[in-house]
Amino acid sequence: MLEQSAIDALRVETLSARGHFIDGRSVDAGDSRALDVVSPIDGQVLTTIADGTPAVMDRAVAVARAAFEDGRWSRLAPAARKKVLLKLADLIERRALALTVLGVRDNGTEINMAYKAEALSAAATFRYYAEAIDKVFGQIAPTAPDILGLVHHAPVGVVGAIVPWNFPLMIGAWKIAPALAAGNSIVLKPAESASLSLLMIAELAAEAGVPDGVFNVVTGKGAVVGEALALSMDVDILVFTGSGATGRRLMEYAARSNLKRCYLELGGKSPNIIFNDAKDLAQAAKVSAAGIFRNSGQVCVAGSRLLVQEDIHDDFVAELCRHAEAFRVGDPLDLSSQIGAVHSLPELEANLSFVEKAASEGAERATGGDRILTETGGYYMQPTVMTGVKPQDTLSQQEVFGPVLAVTHFKDEAEALRIANSTVYGLAAGVWTADLSRAHRMVAGIRAGVVHVNTYGGPDMTVPLGGVKQSGNGHDKSLHALEKYVDLKTAWIQL
Ligand code: NAD
Repeated sequence: MLEQSAIDALRVETLSARGHFIDGRSVDAGDSRALDVVSPIDGQVLTTIADGTPAVMDRAVAVARAAFEDGRWSRLAPAARKKVLLKLADLIERRALALTVLGVRDNGTEINMAYKAEALSAAATFRYYAEAIDKVFGQIAPTAPDILGLVHHAPVGVVGAIVPWNFPLMIGAWKIAPALAAGNSIVLKPAESASLSLLMIAELAAEAGVPDGVFNVVTGKGAVVGEALALSMDVDILVFTGSGATGRRLMEYAARSNLKRCYLELGGKSPNIIFNDAKDLAQAAKVSAAGIFRNSGQVCVAGSRLLVQEDIHDDFVAELCRHAEAFRVGDPLDLSSQIGAVHSLPELEANLSFVEKAASEGAERATGGDRILTETGGYYMQPTVMTGVKPQDTLSQQEVFGPVLAVTHFKDEAEALRIANSTVYGLAAGVWTADLSRAHRMVAGIRAGVVHVNTYGGPDMTVPLGGVKQSGNGHDKSLHALEKYVDLKTAWIQL
Protein backbone atom coordinates (compact mmCIF):
# COMPACT_ATOMS: atom_id res chain seq x y z
CA MET A 1 0.00 0.00 0.00
CA LEU A 2 1.49 3.33 -1.06
CA GLU A 3 1.56 6.12 1.49
CA GLN A 4 1.61 9.78 0.57
CA SER A 5 3.95 10.68 3.43
CA ALA A 6 6.60 8.21 2.21
CA ILE A 7 6.31 9.59 -1.33
CA ASP A 8 6.57 13.17 -0.08
CA ALA A 9 9.72 12.36 1.89
CA LEU A 10 11.39 10.96 -1.23
CA ARG A 11 10.26 13.63 -3.67
CA VAL A 12 12.16 16.41 -1.94
CA GLU A 13 15.52 14.63 -1.98
CA THR A 14 18.17 16.68 -3.73
CA LEU A 15 19.64 14.73 -6.61
CA SER A 16 23.36 14.89 -7.27
CA ALA A 17 24.72 15.05 -10.83
CA ARG A 18 24.68 11.59 -12.40
CA GLY A 19 27.56 10.02 -14.33
CA HIS A 20 27.60 7.03 -16.64
CA PHE A 21 27.75 3.53 -15.17
CA ILE A 22 30.69 1.67 -16.69
CA ASP A 23 32.68 -1.32 -15.47
CA GLY A 24 30.74 -1.66 -12.24
CA ARG A 25 30.89 1.93 -11.08
CA SER A 26 29.50 5.35 -11.64
CA VAL A 27 31.97 7.42 -13.62
CA ASP A 28 31.88 11.21 -13.82
CA ALA A 29 31.02 12.89 -16.97
CA GLY A 30 34.77 13.18 -17.67
CA ASP A 31 35.18 14.64 -21.11
CA SER A 32 31.38 14.61 -21.50
CA ARG A 33 29.37 17.71 -20.74
CA ALA A 34 26.23 17.58 -18.60
CA LEU A 35 22.61 17.62 -19.73
CA ASP A 36 19.86 19.16 -17.61
CA VAL A 37 17.09 16.80 -16.53
CA VAL A 38 13.83 18.77 -16.43
CA SER A 39 10.92 17.52 -14.35
CA PRO A 40 7.59 17.57 -16.19
CA ILE A 41 5.92 17.98 -12.79
CA ASP A 42 6.93 21.64 -12.50
CA GLY A 43 9.28 22.39 -15.39
CA GLN A 44 12.24 22.76 -12.99
CA VAL A 45 15.72 21.31 -13.46
CA LEU A 46 16.05 18.24 -11.23
CA THR A 47 19.69 17.39 -11.77
CA THR A 48 22.08 16.67 -14.62
CA ILE A 49 23.19 13.53 -16.42
CA ALA A 50 26.41 13.05 -18.37
CA ASP A 51 26.10 14.07 -22.00
CA GLY A 52 28.14 11.18 -23.38
CA THR A 53 30.47 11.26 -26.35
CA PRO A 54 31.24 8.58 -28.94
CA ALA A 55 34.57 8.00 -27.12
CA VAL A 56 32.76 7.19 -23.85
CA MET A 57 30.41 4.86 -25.71
CA ASP A 58 33.34 3.08 -27.38
CA ARG A 59 34.94 2.59 -23.97
CA ALA A 60 31.73 1.11 -22.53
CA VAL A 61 31.41 -1.26 -25.49
CA ALA A 62 35.06 -2.34 -25.09
CA VAL A 63 34.48 -3.02 -21.39
CA ALA A 64 31.35 -5.05 -22.19
CA ARG A 65 33.24 -7.01 -24.87
CA ALA A 66 36.12 -7.80 -22.51
CA ALA A 67 33.68 -8.96 -19.84
CA PHE A 68 31.91 -11.18 -22.34
CA GLU A 69 35.07 -12.73 -23.74
CA ASP A 70 36.65 -13.65 -20.40
CA GLY A 71 33.51 -15.54 -19.40
CA ARG A 72 33.02 -13.90 -15.98
CA TRP A 73 29.27 -13.98 -16.68
CA SER A 74 28.81 -15.61 -20.09
CA ARG A 75 30.38 -18.89 -18.94
CA LEU A 76 28.76 -19.07 -15.51
CA ALA A 77 26.32 -21.92 -15.02
CA PRO A 78 22.79 -20.69 -15.73
CA ALA A 79 21.87 -21.55 -12.15
CA ALA A 80 24.58 -19.15 -10.92
CA ARG A 81 23.29 -16.32 -13.10
CA LYS A 82 19.79 -17.14 -11.87
CA LYS A 83 20.86 -16.65 -8.26
CA VAL A 84 22.27 -13.19 -8.97
CA LEU A 85 19.25 -12.08 -10.99
CA LEU A 86 16.84 -13.28 -8.30
CA LYS A 87 18.80 -11.19 -5.81
CA LEU A 88 18.51 -8.21 -8.16
CA ALA A 89 14.72 -8.74 -8.33
CA ASP A 90 14.62 -8.70 -4.51
CA LEU A 91 16.69 -5.51 -4.35
CA ILE A 92 14.42 -3.79 -6.89
CA GLU A 93 11.39 -4.79 -4.86
CA ARG A 94 13.00 -3.56 -1.65
CA ARG A 95 13.79 -0.19 -3.25
CA ALA A 96 10.59 -0.07 -5.31
CA LEU A 97 9.24 3.16 -3.89
CA ALA A 98 12.54 5.04 -4.20
CA LEU A 99 12.96 3.80 -7.78
CA THR A 100 9.40 4.76 -8.66
CA VAL A 101 9.56 8.26 -7.18
CA LEU A 102 12.90 8.89 -8.91
CA GLY A 103 11.43 7.71 -12.21
CA VAL A 104 8.25 9.76 -11.85
CA ARG A 105 10.30 12.87 -11.09
CA ASP A 106 11.90 12.74 -14.52
CA ASN A 107 9.18 11.12 -16.63
CA GLY A 108 5.86 12.26 -15.14
CA THR A 109 3.78 9.05 -15.06
CA GLU A 110 1.13 8.99 -12.31
CA ILE A 111 2.60 7.11 -9.36
CA ASN A 112 -0.38 4.79 -8.96
CA MET A 113 0.44 3.37 -12.34
CA ALA A 114 4.23 3.76 -12.21
CA TYR A 115 4.68 1.83 -8.96
CA LYS A 116 3.18 -1.30 -10.52
CA ALA A 117 4.14 -0.77 -14.17
CA GLU A 118 7.70 0.36 -13.47
CA ALA A 119 9.41 -0.91 -10.31
CA LEU A 120 7.24 -3.92 -9.49
CA SER A 121 7.02 -4.94 -13.11
CA ALA A 122 10.82 -4.68 -13.48
CA ALA A 123 11.31 -6.89 -10.42
CA ALA A 124 8.85 -9.44 -11.82
CA THR A 125 10.64 -9.40 -15.18
CA PHE A 126 14.05 -10.12 -13.62
CA ARG A 127 12.49 -12.91 -11.58
CA TYR A 128 10.75 -14.40 -14.63
CA TYR A 129 13.92 -14.66 -16.75
CA ALA A 130 16.03 -15.74 -13.78
CA GLU A 131 13.60 -18.58 -13.15
CA ALA A 132 13.44 -19.48 -16.84
CA ILE A 133 17.10 -19.66 -17.69
CA ASP A 134 17.90 -23.04 -16.16
CA LYS A 135 14.81 -24.57 -17.77
CA VAL A 136 15.40 -23.79 -21.43
CA PHE A 137 18.12 -25.56 -23.33
CA GLY A 138 19.28 -26.82 -26.72
CA GLN A 139 18.49 -29.95 -28.68
CA ILE A 140 19.94 -33.21 -29.84
CA ALA A 141 19.04 -33.69 -33.49
CA PRO A 142 17.55 -37.00 -34.74
CA THR A 143 20.62 -37.88 -36.82
CA ALA A 144 22.06 -41.21 -38.02
CA PRO A 145 23.52 -43.26 -35.12
CA ASP A 146 27.18 -42.58 -36.03
CA ILE A 147 26.84 -38.80 -35.88
CA LEU A 148 25.73 -36.46 -33.13
CA GLY A 149 24.08 -33.15 -33.98
CA LEU A 150 23.86 -30.79 -31.00
CA VAL A 151 22.08 -27.45 -31.14
CA HIS A 152 23.51 -25.16 -28.46
CA HIS A 153 22.01 -21.91 -27.21
CA ALA A 154 25.01 -19.60 -27.18
CA PRO A 155 24.85 -16.04 -25.83
CA VAL A 156 25.27 -13.59 -28.72
CA GLY A 157 27.89 -11.35 -27.07
CA VAL A 158 27.43 -7.60 -26.55
CA VAL A 159 23.85 -6.35 -26.62
CA GLY A 160 23.21 -2.68 -27.36
CA ALA A 161 19.89 -1.63 -25.82
CA ILE A 162 18.23 1.73 -26.54
CA VAL A 163 15.02 2.57 -24.68
CA PRO A 164 12.49 5.43 -24.59
CA TRP A 165 11.29 7.72 -21.81
CA ASN A 166 7.85 6.19 -21.25
CA PHE A 167 8.13 3.29 -18.79
CA PRO A 168 11.96 3.21 -18.78
CA LEU A 169 12.14 0.57 -16.03
CA MET A 170 9.52 -1.74 -17.45
CA ILE A 171 10.82 -1.59 -21.01
CA GLY A 172 14.45 -1.55 -19.85
CA ALA A 173 13.88 -4.71 -17.80
CA TRP A 174 12.18 -6.42 -20.76
CA LYS A 175 15.55 -6.16 -22.53
CA ILE A 176 18.13 -6.26 -19.73
CA ALA A 177 16.69 -9.28 -17.90
CA PRO A 178 16.56 -11.82 -20.77
CA ALA A 179 19.87 -10.53 -22.19
CA LEU A 180 21.65 -11.01 -18.85
CA ALA A 181 19.92 -14.30 -18.11
CA ALA A 182 21.20 -15.70 -21.41
CA GLY A 183 24.78 -14.71 -20.53
CA ASN A 184 25.30 -11.59 -22.61
CA SER A 185 26.97 -8.30 -21.69
CA ILE A 186 24.99 -5.09 -22.20
CA VAL A 187 25.47 -1.44 -22.96
CA LEU A 188 22.24 0.44 -22.31
CA LYS A 189 21.39 3.88 -23.66
CA PRO A 190 18.36 5.30 -21.82
CA ALA A 191 16.36 8.27 -23.13
CA GLU A 192 18.16 11.50 -22.25
CA SER A 193 15.07 12.79 -20.40
CA ALA A 194 14.45 9.59 -18.35
CA SER A 195 17.75 8.02 -17.34
CA LEU A 196 17.67 8.30 -13.56
CA SER A 197 15.83 5.12 -12.56
CA LEU A 198 17.82 2.97 -15.01
CA LEU A 199 21.11 4.30 -13.59
CA MET A 200 19.83 3.16 -10.20
CA ILE A 201 19.05 -0.30 -11.60
CA ALA A 202 22.67 -0.57 -12.77
CA GLU A 203 23.85 0.17 -9.22
CA LEU A 204 21.47 -2.45 -7.81
CA ALA A 205 22.69 -4.98 -10.39
CA ALA A 206 26.27 -4.46 -9.17
CA GLU A 207 25.09 -4.85 -5.56
CA ALA A 208 23.32 -8.09 -6.50
CA GLY A 209 26.55 -9.51 -7.91
CA VAL A 210 26.42 -8.87 -11.67
CA PRO A 211 30.17 -8.74 -12.39
CA ASP A 212 31.83 -5.46 -13.37
CA GLY A 213 31.62 -4.65 -17.04
CA VAL A 214 28.65 -6.90 -17.76
CA PHE A 215 25.96 -4.22 -17.46
CA ASN A 216 26.89 -0.69 -18.47
CA VAL A 217 24.81 2.46 -18.92
CA VAL A 218 25.89 5.39 -21.07
CA THR A 219 23.68 8.48 -20.97
CA GLY A 220 23.37 11.30 -23.45
CA LYS A 221 21.81 12.25 -26.74
CA GLY A 222 20.40 9.64 -29.08
CA ALA A 223 22.00 11.22 -32.12
CA VAL A 224 25.43 11.06 -30.43
CA VAL A 225 25.83 8.11 -28.06
CA GLY A 226 22.87 6.17 -29.47
CA GLU A 227 24.36 6.48 -32.91
CA ALA A 228 27.83 5.47 -31.67
CA LEU A 229 26.34 2.36 -30.04
CA ALA A 230 24.43 1.42 -33.18
CA LEU A 231 27.46 1.97 -35.42
CA SER A 232 29.84 0.02 -33.20
CA MET A 233 31.60 -2.91 -34.84
CA ASP A 234 31.73 -4.64 -31.46
CA VAL A 235 28.00 -4.71 -30.70
CA ASP A 236 26.37 -7.95 -31.82
CA ILE A 237 22.69 -7.09 -31.63
CA LEU A 238 20.62 -3.97 -31.08
CA VAL A 239 17.36 -4.09 -29.17
CA PHE A 240 15.31 -0.95 -29.40
CA THR A 241 12.03 0.55 -28.27
CA GLY A 242 11.09 3.97 -29.57
CA SER A 243 9.88 5.80 -32.62
CA GLY A 244 9.81 4.51 -36.17
CA ALA A 245 12.08 7.35 -37.31
CA THR A 246 14.84 6.22 -34.95
CA GLY A 247 14.21 2.55 -35.76
CA ARG A 248 14.80 3.28 -39.43
CA ARG A 249 18.12 4.98 -38.61
CA LEU A 250 19.24 2.01 -36.52
CA MET A 251 18.77 -0.32 -39.49
CA GLU A 252 20.89 2.03 -41.59
CA TYR A 253 23.61 2.14 -38.92
CA ALA A 254 23.58 -1.65 -38.79
CA ALA A 255 23.93 -1.86 -42.57
CA ARG A 256 26.78 0.67 -42.50
CA SER A 257 28.66 -1.18 -39.75
CA ASN A 258 28.66 -4.90 -38.97
CA LEU A 259 25.16 -6.02 -40.05
CA LYS A 260 24.15 -6.46 -36.42
CA ARG A 261 20.60 -7.72 -36.02
CA CYS A 262 18.12 -4.98 -35.02
CA TYR A 263 15.01 -5.82 -33.04
CA LEU A 264 12.61 -2.89 -33.14
CA GLU A 265 9.58 -2.18 -30.95
CA LEU A 266 8.02 0.93 -32.48
CA GLY A 267 4.93 3.09 -32.36
CA GLY A 268 1.28 2.41 -32.96
CA LYS A 269 -2.09 3.86 -33.91
CA SER A 270 -4.12 1.11 -32.38
CA PRO A 271 -7.81 0.71 -33.26
CA ASN A 272 -10.28 -0.03 -30.48
CA ILE A 273 -13.48 -1.26 -32.13
CA ILE A 274 -16.88 -1.09 -30.46
CA PHE A 275 -19.64 -3.19 -32.04
CA ASN A 276 -23.28 -2.56 -31.17
CA ASP A 277 -23.61 -6.13 -29.85
CA ALA A 278 -20.98 -5.65 -27.09
CA LYS A 279 -22.34 -7.12 -23.86
CA ASP A 280 -21.49 -4.23 -21.56
CA LEU A 281 -21.10 -0.92 -23.36
CA ALA A 282 -20.70 1.00 -20.11
CA GLN A 283 -17.71 -1.17 -19.19
CA ALA A 284 -16.36 -0.82 -22.74
CA ALA A 285 -16.48 2.98 -22.43
CA LYS A 286 -14.74 2.93 -19.05
CA VAL A 287 -11.95 0.59 -20.16
CA SER A 288 -11.53 2.37 -23.49
CA ALA A 289 -11.07 5.72 -21.71
CA ALA A 290 -8.38 4.23 -19.47
CA GLY A 291 -6.86 2.51 -22.51
CA ILE A 292 -6.07 5.84 -24.14
CA PHE A 293 -5.73 8.34 -21.30
CA ARG A 294 -3.66 6.69 -18.55
CA ASN A 295 -0.08 7.98 -18.51
CA SER A 296 -1.41 10.86 -20.63
CA GLY A 297 -1.71 8.55 -23.64
CA GLN A 298 2.03 7.90 -23.63
CA VAL A 299 1.61 4.16 -23.93
CA CYS A 300 2.74 2.39 -27.10
CA VAL A 301 -0.34 0.15 -27.19
CA ALA A 302 -2.79 2.98 -26.34
CA GLY A 303 -6.12 2.54 -28.12
CA SER A 304 -5.81 5.89 -29.88
CA ARG A 305 -8.36 5.25 -32.64
CA LEU A 306 -11.86 4.53 -31.40
CA LEU A 307 -14.02 2.95 -34.10
CA VAL A 308 -17.69 2.90 -33.06
CA GLN A 309 -20.60 1.29 -34.90
CA GLU A 310 -22.78 4.12 -36.17
CA ASP A 311 -26.05 3.30 -34.36
CA ILE A 312 -24.41 3.44 -30.91
CA HIS A 313 -21.89 6.16 -31.75
CA ASP A 314 -23.42 9.19 -30.03
CA ASP A 315 -24.36 7.47 -26.76
CA PHE A 316 -21.06 5.66 -26.54
CA VAL A 317 -18.98 8.78 -27.17
CA ALA A 318 -21.01 10.70 -24.57
CA GLU A 319 -20.32 7.99 -21.99
CA LEU A 320 -16.61 7.89 -22.86
CA CYS A 321 -16.38 11.69 -22.57
CA ARG A 322 -17.91 11.48 -19.11
CA HIS A 323 -15.03 9.22 -18.07
CA ALA A 324 -12.47 11.47 -19.79
CA GLU A 325 -13.76 14.51 -17.92
CA ALA A 326 -13.87 12.69 -14.59
CA PHE A 327 -10.16 11.78 -14.62
CA ARG A 328 -8.18 13.79 -12.07
CA VAL A 329 -5.16 15.16 -13.96
CA GLY A 330 -2.40 16.55 -11.79
CA ASP A 331 0.84 16.14 -9.88
CA PRO A 332 1.93 12.58 -10.69
CA LEU A 333 3.39 12.17 -7.20
CA ASP A 334 0.01 12.86 -5.63
CA LEU A 335 -1.74 9.56 -4.97
CA SER A 336 -5.09 11.06 -5.91
CA SER A 337 -3.97 11.93 -9.46
CA GLN A 338 -5.26 9.47 -12.04
CA ILE A 339 -3.31 11.02 -14.89
CA GLY A 340 0.07 12.68 -14.44
CA ALA A 341 2.13 14.97 -16.63
CA VAL A 342 2.92 14.97 -20.32
CA HIS A 343 6.60 14.09 -20.49
CA SER A 344 8.05 17.30 -21.92
CA LEU A 345 7.15 20.69 -23.31
CA PRO A 346 7.86 19.67 -26.93
CA GLU A 347 5.58 16.63 -26.48
CA LEU A 348 2.83 18.82 -25.04
CA GLU A 349 3.15 21.30 -27.90
CA ALA A 350 3.04 18.47 -30.43
CA ASN A 351 -0.14 17.10 -28.80
CA LEU A 352 -1.83 20.50 -28.98
CA SER A 353 -0.86 20.94 -32.61
CA PHE A 354 -2.39 17.52 -33.45
CA VAL A 355 -5.66 18.81 -31.96
CA GLU A 356 -5.48 21.94 -34.10
CA LYS A 357 -4.63 19.96 -37.21
CA ALA A 358 -7.56 17.58 -36.61
CA ALA A 359 -9.93 20.55 -36.25
CA SER A 360 -8.58 22.03 -39.49
CA GLU A 361 -9.36 18.72 -41.22
CA GLY A 362 -12.98 18.83 -40.02
CA ALA A 363 -12.96 16.96 -36.68
CA GLU A 364 -14.79 18.30 -33.66
CA ARG A 365 -13.61 18.51 -30.08
CA ALA A 366 -16.05 16.47 -28.01
CA THR A 367 -14.04 17.21 -24.87
CA GLY A 368 -10.62 18.52 -23.78
CA GLY A 369 -7.99 19.84 -26.13
CA ASP A 370 -6.21 22.30 -23.83
CA ARG A 371 -3.16 22.62 -21.67
CA ILE A 372 -4.08 22.93 -17.99
CA LEU A 373 -2.43 23.64 -14.63
CA THR A 374 0.03 26.07 -16.25
CA GLU A 375 0.47 27.77 -12.85
CA THR A 376 2.43 24.70 -11.69
CA GLY A 377 5.04 25.22 -14.41
CA GLY A 378 4.46 21.56 -15.35
CA TYR A 379 3.12 20.00 -18.53
CA TYR A 380 -0.46 18.86 -18.18
CA MET A 381 -3.16 18.30 -20.77
CA GLN A 382 -6.85 17.49 -20.66
CA PRO A 383 -7.92 14.09 -21.93
CA THR A 384 -9.12 14.97 -25.41
CA VAL A 385 -11.72 13.32 -27.62
CA MET A 386 -11.99 14.35 -31.29
CA THR A 387 -15.03 13.10 -33.21
CA GLY A 388 -15.76 12.95 -36.92
CA VAL A 389 -12.19 11.93 -37.72
CA LYS A 390 -11.98 10.32 -41.16
CA PRO A 391 -9.78 7.26 -41.69
CA GLN A 392 -7.39 9.14 -43.97
CA ASP A 393 -7.02 12.19 -41.65
CA THR A 394 -3.74 13.01 -39.93
CA LEU A 395 -5.18 12.07 -36.53
CA SER A 396 -6.08 8.61 -37.86
CA GLN A 397 -2.76 8.03 -39.55
CA GLN A 398 -0.05 9.50 -37.29
CA GLU A 399 0.85 8.52 -33.75
CA VAL A 400 0.27 11.38 -31.29
CA PHE A 401 1.68 9.64 -28.21
CA GLY A 402 -0.46 11.89 -26.04
CA PRO A 403 -3.98 12.05 -24.53
CA VAL A 404 -5.82 12.57 -27.82
CA LEU A 405 -8.43 10.09 -29.02
CA ALA A 406 -9.60 10.00 -32.65
CA VAL A 407 -13.20 8.77 -33.03
CA THR A 408 -14.51 7.37 -36.33
CA HIS A 409 -17.78 5.58 -37.01
CA PHE A 410 -18.35 2.51 -39.16
CA LYS A 411 -21.33 0.65 -40.66
CA ASP A 412 -20.47 -3.03 -40.44
CA GLU A 413 -17.77 -5.56 -39.66
CA ALA A 414 -16.17 -5.37 -43.10
CA GLU A 415 -15.81 -1.60 -42.87
CA ALA A 416 -14.47 -1.78 -39.31
CA LEU A 417 -11.79 -4.23 -40.42
CA ARG A 418 -10.86 -2.15 -43.43
CA ILE A 419 -10.45 1.01 -41.32
CA ALA A 420 -8.61 -0.89 -38.57
CA ASN A 421 -5.98 -2.05 -41.07
CA SER A 422 -5.68 1.27 -42.91
CA THR A 423 -2.52 2.62 -41.22
CA VAL A 424 1.16 1.73 -41.52
CA TYR A 425 1.09 0.52 -37.91
CA GLY A 426 0.24 -2.87 -36.42
CA LEU A 427 0.92 -2.87 -32.71
CA ALA A 428 -2.33 -3.47 -30.81
CA ALA A 429 -6.11 -3.49 -31.22
CA GLY A 430 -9.29 -3.95 -29.21
CA VAL A 431 -12.60 -5.55 -30.22
CA TRP A 432 -15.77 -5.34 -28.15
CA THR A 433 -18.48 -7.81 -29.18
CA ALA A 434 -20.61 -10.58 -27.68
CA ASP A 435 -20.40 -12.58 -30.91
CA LEU A 436 -17.68 -15.20 -30.48
CA SER A 437 -17.42 -15.93 -34.19
CA ARG A 438 -17.02 -12.24 -34.97
CA ALA A 439 -14.35 -11.95 -32.26
CA HIS A 440 -12.35 -14.75 -33.87
CA ARG A 441 -12.79 -13.27 -37.36
CA MET A 442 -11.51 -9.91 -36.10
CA VAL A 443 -8.54 -11.48 -34.28
CA ALA A 444 -7.61 -13.22 -37.52
CA GLY A 445 -8.25 -10.20 -39.72
CA ILE A 446 -6.62 -7.37 -37.80
CA ARG A 447 -2.93 -7.00 -38.57
CA ALA A 448 -1.53 -6.31 -35.10
CA GLY A 449 0.80 -7.94 -32.60
CA VAL A 450 -1.87 -8.11 -29.90
CA VAL A 451 -5.66 -8.04 -30.21
CA HIS A 452 -7.70 -7.59 -27.03
CA VAL A 453 -11.27 -8.88 -26.94
CA ASN A 454 -13.71 -7.33 -24.46
CA THR A 455 -10.80 -5.81 -22.54
CA TYR A 456 -7.88 -3.51 -23.29
CA GLY A 457 -4.31 -3.94 -21.99
CA GLY A 458 -3.06 -6.72 -19.77
CA PRO A 459 0.21 -6.76 -17.86
CA ASP A 460 1.38 -10.33 -17.99
CA MET A 461 4.89 -11.63 -18.67
CA THR A 462 3.65 -14.91 -20.09
CA VAL A 463 2.72 -13.56 -23.53
CA PRO A 464 4.90 -11.77 -26.11
CA LEU A 465 4.50 -8.09 -27.02
CA GLY A 466 5.60 -6.89 -30.42
CA GLY A 467 4.32 -5.27 -33.56
CA VAL A 468 3.83 -6.06 -37.22
CA LYS A 469 4.06 -3.70 -40.24
CA GLN A 470 5.86 -0.49 -39.19
CA SER A 471 5.26 -1.15 -35.48
CA GLY A 472 8.32 -3.36 -35.32
CA ASN A 473 9.86 -6.73 -35.85
CA GLY A 474 10.71 -8.15 -32.45
CA HIS A 475 9.02 -9.35 -29.30
CA ASP A 476 9.60 -8.46 -25.69
CA LYS A 477 8.24 -10.52 -22.78
CA SER A 478 7.59 -14.27 -22.49
CA LEU A 479 10.02 -17.09 -23.26
CA HIS A 480 9.97 -15.99 -26.93
CA ALA A 481 11.99 -12.88 -26.01
CA LEU A 482 14.91 -15.10 -25.01
CA GLU A 483 15.31 -16.16 -28.64
CA LYS A 484 16.76 -12.73 -29.49
CA TYR A 485 19.54 -13.14 -26.98
CA VAL A 486 20.86 -16.54 -28.00
CA ASP A 487 22.51 -17.75 -31.17
CA LEU A 488 21.81 -21.28 -32.31
CA LYS A 489 25.17 -23.01 -32.65
CA THR A 490 25.38 -26.46 -34.16
CA ALA A 491 28.01 -28.99 -33.08
CA TRP A 492 28.33 -31.83 -35.60
CA ILE A 493 30.24 -34.71 -34.04
CA GLN A 494 31.35 -37.90 -35.78
CA LEU A 495 31.17 -40.79 -33.34
P1 NAD B 1 12.73 8.06 -29.81
O1 NAD B 1 12.89 7.17 -30.99
O2 NAD B 1 12.81 9.52 -30.01
O3 NAD B 1 13.84 7.72 -28.72
C1 NAD B 1 14.01 6.41 -28.24
C2 NAD B 1 15.46 6.22 -27.86
O4 NAD B 1 16.24 6.31 -29.05
C3 NAD B 1 16.01 7.27 -26.90
O5 NAD B 1 16.89 6.66 -25.99
C4 NAD B 1 16.76 8.20 -27.83
O6 NAD B 1 17.81 8.89 -27.18
C5 NAD B 1 17.32 7.22 -28.84
N1 NAD B 1 17.68 7.82 -30.13
C6 NAD B 1 17.15 8.93 -30.72
N2 NAD B 1 17.79 9.17 -31.89
C7 NAD B 1 18.73 8.21 -32.04
C8 NAD B 1 19.69 7.92 -33.05
N3 NAD B 1 19.84 8.69 -34.13
N4 NAD B 1 20.49 6.84 -32.89
C9 NAD B 1 20.35 6.03 -31.81
N5 NAD B 1 19.47 6.28 -30.81
C10 NAD B 1 18.66 7.35 -30.93
O7 NAD B 1 11.35 7.65 -29.11
P2 NAD B 1 10.72 8.28 -27.78
O8 NAD B 1 10.11 9.58 -28.14
O9 NAD B 1 11.69 8.22 -26.66
O10 NAD B 1 9.60 7.18 -27.44
C11 NAD B 1 8.32 7.26 -27.94
C12 NAD B 1 8.13 6.23 -29.03
O11 NAD B 1 8.39 4.93 -28.53
C13 NAD B 1 6.70 6.19 -29.52
O12 NAD B 1 6.68 6.08 -30.91
C14 NAD B 1 6.15 4.91 -28.90
O13 NAD B 1 5.07 4.33 -29.55
C15 NAD B 1 7.35 4.04 -28.92
N6 NAD B 1 7.20 2.93 -27.97
C16 NAD B 1 7.02 1.65 -28.46
C17 NAD B 1 6.85 0.57 -27.57
C18 NAD B 1 6.66 -0.85 -28.05
O14 NAD B 1 6.72 -1.77 -27.25
N7 NAD B 1 6.41 -1.07 -29.33
C19 NAD B 1 6.86 0.82 -26.19
C20 NAD B 1 7.03 2.13 -25.74
C21 NAD B 1 7.22 3.18 -26.65
